[in-house]
Amino acid sequence: MSHIVQVEPLTTARALRGPFDYVRPDGTDVGSLLEVPFGRQRLTAVVTGVVDHSEHRLAAPLRVLPDALPADLVDLGLWLAREYASTPARALSLLLPPRGARERVQLWAHRTPDGDAAIQAEAHLGATELRLTGKQGALLQALPRFAGPDLGALRRLEARGLVEIGPRGRRRAPQHTAVGIRRPQPGLTADQQDALDAILATAATDRPERLLLHGVTGSGKTEVYLRAAAATLERGRAVLILVPEIGLTPQMIDRFVGRFGDTVAVLHSKLGAGERYDEWRRLRSGAARVCVGPRSAVFAPMDRLGLVVVDEEHDGSYKNEGDPRYDARLVAEKRALQHGAVLVCGSATPRPESVHALRRVRLPRRVDGSSMPAVEIVDLRHAPGAVHPRTHEALVDARKAIVLLNRRGWSNFLTCRSCGRVWECPQCDVALVLHRSQDRVACHHCGHAEAVPGTCPDCGSISIARHGAGTERLEHDLAALGRPVLRLDADVRHAGPVLAAFERADSAILVGTQVVAKGHDFPDVDLGVVLDADATLRFPDFRAEERTFALVTQLAGRAGRGNAGARVLVQTIDPTAPAIAFAARHDSDGFLRGELERREALRYPPFSTLIRIVCSSESTGVAHAAATAIHARLPGALGPAPLFRLRGRERSQVVLKGPVGPGRRAAVEQADAAVREVSADKAYKAAAFSVDVDAQ
Ligand code: ADP
Ligand code: ZN
Ligand code: ZN
Repeated sequence: MSHIVQVEPLTTARALRGPFDYVRPDGTDVGSLLEVPFGRQRLTAVVTGVVDHSEHRLAAPLRVLPDALPADLVDLGLWLAREYASTPARALSLLLPPRGARERVQLWAHRTPDGDAAIQAEAHLGATELRLTGKQGALLQALPRFAGPDLGALRRLEARGLVEIGPRGRRRAPQHTAVGIRRPQPGLTADQQDALDAILATAATDRPERLLLHGVTGSGKTEVYLRAAAATLERGRAVLILVPEIGLTPQMIDRFVGRFGDTVAVLHSKLGAGERYDEWRRLRSGAARVCVGPRSAVFAPMDRLGLVVVDEEHDGSYKNEGDPRYDARLVAEKRALQHGAVLVCGSATPRPESVHALRRVRLPRRVDGSSMPAVEIVDLRHAPGAVHPRTHEALVDARKAIVLLNRRGWSNFLTCRSCGRVWECPQCDVALVLHRSQDRVACHHCGHAEAVPGTCPDCGSISIARHGAGTERLEHDLAALGRPVLRLDADVRHAGPVLAAFERADSAILVGTQVVAKGHDFPDVDLGVVLDADATLRFPDFRAEERTFALVTQLAGRAGRGNAGARVLVQTIDPTAPAIAFAARHDSDGFLRGELERREALRYPPFSTLIRIVCSSESTGVAHAAATAIHARLPGALGPAPLFRLRGRERSQVVLKGPVGPGRRAAVEQADAAVREVSADKAYKAAAFSVDVDAQ
């Protein structure tokens, strides 16, 4: 009987790495959560191993916390730490049961055999156990006895939020919009049936393949997921469905809840802590066998997964911005591998990486038989103004139009007409953007905001020029067309009502940033406009082409569903750019072929592992010096290259194009080691470091 546990204490200190040995409390195993004494602190810790021998004098954990993690998630956490140059503590923190569930007393009302109403009290522990002394516990147990069979007094306490009364195990129903409308299940098209057969055939094998469901917009990918999910449940296996931001995909939740009912758990950040915890518990216990959620749902505690779906796999939200900077698409692949589940990534505009690595299954036609809308390129080179006369004309003629402009706010930047001053963020080296409705200028990087200037502080001039147009300005200008204009961008708090109003409207224009191109299924949009296709194309980034192609294609996908004469206009000053030209021809194969060739020639992913190290510091020159020191330790790395100052910190980056396949891990470790060495050097004490593997 092994009586020692190895644990990872969940500290944020980078230098501290476990495992550390402790006495094994009864009943604990890999995945158990403990509170351990650690130096002078008490830390939550995850048991990662159970062993017989230890070199150290062992301390005993202070207590065992509720809600152990399943062992496969512990493995996943340790893998995550290595794969993304993070620490076990930070990686495992992502996997913990949702915290912060409101601590309150939960009472269970039930009838005793002799018919009296009896109430039992139980501390509802949430993830953070109530800390109760013996006396407090006794008091809690006594509470129902004081109340007697009369629930009245307790109900009044409940009304005040102090206790919660309910039948045992009642769950707090998530407040997502899903009402679970039961729609009849449509018969599959021949293409859908073929795709489903391909998924199920490989799912039934010992080592299922990884599939890419490459289906044009409106080809019915979701119905394929639903059927595959049903077949998976029938085989006694569980289903994990990842979707981009959940606020924009209520249709997906609706359809899953509608088809499978209560066995669907929804995990997302808009749930209250209690709701999230209850969903986590339902998944952990097996009461829920289907999980739908965004990026972080890839860590849902589920047993015996048979199907893992990543919908809209090209979406940028699958990459985590914080440490560990994981890519949920790769984590999903790892989970599928752990469980012997089939992985299905779906998109109309798959990433070159996925096309390269996964077996492709196609849905080449729209379900309703409608053709793709005609895409016209509008050459902006010799036309003044943001809206070309041809575009204007099309807007006049259209009944329902979606206009995409990837810049929010009124105008992009302000200058003084007399002295040329540019209004910049005091914290970041970027221009402030005018938001007229909020009557302020704001930094889109750090959130700094100030009043709209009336005079120039440098020369006193009152003549201030506003340059460029954003969505707010466009909304205002298009109102002249005399029909409702709706706007959707990050300044609009609730997307749902805007989308609903647009859907209901007879005739309207929806203006917005790239969110307007995402997954919505409106039947009667007859015009799509990309106002400035160059905005994404000009980005100094190897994904600029890929993003632009996806944006134009996805927007085209919103138009012409069940509508013959629909068209799409793409305004650009670069009409021959492959991303734009191929999108206009609906030729994703042509685009992907060229893009993969370009990536191979330049050694970009999927032909390399891109590792980006960013050094930052508030002190002048330190970030660049640190990046130089890291660069010296990484032969062949690019840089150090200065980045713009952000949140008051100078930044400098080093980029390593490591190998793919077997050499990947070594490259990550090399980068991690370089950062650790340099960060331990006193000369760079004022610097902070981030390592981004699979940098976007
Ligand atoms: P995609 O995700 O591929 O863009 P969707 O899954 O949103 O496409 O499907 C587009 C529309 O077609 C939806 O309204 C869906 O309900 C409908 N649909 C899907 N499959 C079928 C089918 N076999 N028969 C009829 N309608 C279908
Ligand atoms: Zn001035
Ligand atoms: Zn700023």
